[in-house]
Amino acid sequence: MKKTILIIAITLAFFNCKNNKQENGKPNIVTTTTMITDLVKNIGGDLVNVQGLMGSGVDPHLYKASEGDVSKLVNADIIFYNGLHLEGKLVEVFEKMESQTKTPIALAEDIDKSTLIGSDYFASNYDPHVWFNIAYFKQFASKVAAVLSAKDPKNSVYYSENKKQYLAKLDTLQSTIKSIIETLPKEKRILVTAHDAFNYFGKSYGFEVVGLQGLSTATEAGVQDVQKLAAFIINKNVKAIFVESSVPKRTIEALQAAVNSKGHNVEIGGTLYSDALGNAGTVEGTYIGMFEYNVNTIVNALK
Ligand SMILES: [Zn+2]
Repeated sequence: MKKTILIIAITLAFFNCKNNKQENGKPNIVTTTTMITDLVKNIGGDLVNVQGLMGSGVDPHLYKASEGDVSKLVNADIIFYNGLHLEGKLVEVFEKMESQTKTPIALAEDIDKSTLIGSDYFASNYDPHVWFNIAYFKQFASKVAAVLSAKDPKNSVYYSENKKQYLAKLDTLQSTIKSIIETLPKEKRILVTAHDAFNYFGKSYGFEVVGLQGLSTATEAGVQDVQKLAAFIINKNVKAIFVESSVPKRTIEALQAAVNSKGHNVEIGGTLYSDALGNAGTVEGTYIGMFEYNVNTIVNALK
């Protein structure tokens, strides 16, 4: 959306704002990625209305706000997004919101920056794929509960209880994942995917992680990158590489073809959920289900 159109859309949406707020007395919450939508539903439960802008399979790096999105944002009581420039094309919209007395909350901005993985690809200078560190996602959960309690203090006990239960589930997830990964020998822990979404995952569980595209899908991989990575796969004897649900398959297929053309074989080990969850209503449509599914897919293919 062009800048002037965007400003007009935001202004019009403000004028058209017909008390949509607090429909049924519940706070209206707008979220960006499916991971954050799932989290807010877990903490807010039945006491909030949650509208996620991005669906399953949607790439947040490339996502642009539609006019419908802008009016959802304008009518929201609370806006949660990832931040660190993950939602690269929405930054301008959020900045405009701020100037209109609405403060969108970037959950990743609260994380201690000295613990983040640096990156030259993003204007934030940090890798924004922080949800692949469960400890960071626990921080997201605590922040969401605190913001909901401040907005809707009469239900703060409910939000706090939901947070407690969700944090316990994340702890269980952490130990389940660790025990699955322990079955994969250390020298086989090499994860090759379409783009660099898994650096925090790699750091947490001892994987060497290589993405064919850079951290953002906004830049295409070149022929040289494909050849270099093909040589790496052959040299390290990597058994499988992975496609991602929110990135076109062709880049990984080109990589597989490059390895095969040198007389070696590498399998496509499955589809990982990186920047978006699976379909709503399925196990992979939740953060917890997605994480376990990814780990099982990776470990089974690389064993
Ligand atoms: Zn990404």
